[in-house]
Amino acid sequence: MSSIVGNTHVLRANLPGTREEDCYSWNYESIDEIKTELAAQEYLQSLIRRHRFDIDTLVEVPPGVESLAWLYEHMRQICVELGYYLSTLHGECTELGCSVMRASETTYYCAGHGRPRPCSAMGYSVHTLDYAVRQLGSAASFPDRRHVLDSEIKHFQSMARRLYRVFAHAYFHHREVFERQEATTGLYARFVRLARKYELTPESLIIVPELPTTI
Ligand SMILES: [Zn+2]
Ligand SMILES: [Zn+2]
Repeated sequence: MSSIVGNTHVLRANLPGTREEDCYSWNYESIDEIKTELAAQEYLQSLIRRHRFDIDTLVEVPPGVESLAWLYEHMRQICVELGYYLSTLHGECTELGCSVMRASETTYYCAGHGRPRPCSAMGYSVHTLDYAVRQLGSAASFPDRRHVLDSEIKHFQSMARRLYRVFAHAYFHHREVFERQEATTGLYARFVRLARKYELTPESLIIVPELPTTI
């Protein structure tokens, strides 16, 4: 796709030979420039490329997008990034070292098995991420991503409560990984800001102390 911005012709295409990490690395100045069905998703990804650590800018709902639809796009994006996060954490968080899911002193049962049962921390994290991705892609839970209803907030709440524990486990049990990830991605700061803005988790469940990036 290409478009005219001012007098500059901007080519938006992955040319043959483009490295994977450079794919889709064009930016949009405004969501109105994007004419596809997935405009909000593309715009959010473009914002993150340019303003990854500017949480205020990222959470601000763009014109023409409904507030809950913006939350939906953020949750999808967080799931994508959390997949990379877990592949990094995987080196440290082993079945042996973390045989049950804990964050600080609390142990959590995994809901990814029909009946909740204990799971290793990594098992819990992967199963929870799978569950969140399935929910977000479910036409029963979210029939229209551009018009998310108030009655659908409960799905965000239940996935946010569980996803939070993944970050909390990393913070309390793999602090170095958590800090390294946070310094390069700011993912927890973005997640917790959204959780607070949309009241997805009670304040009492936010157990990671305030970090310089989250204040
Ligand atoms: Zn662990
Ligand atoms: Zn599990």
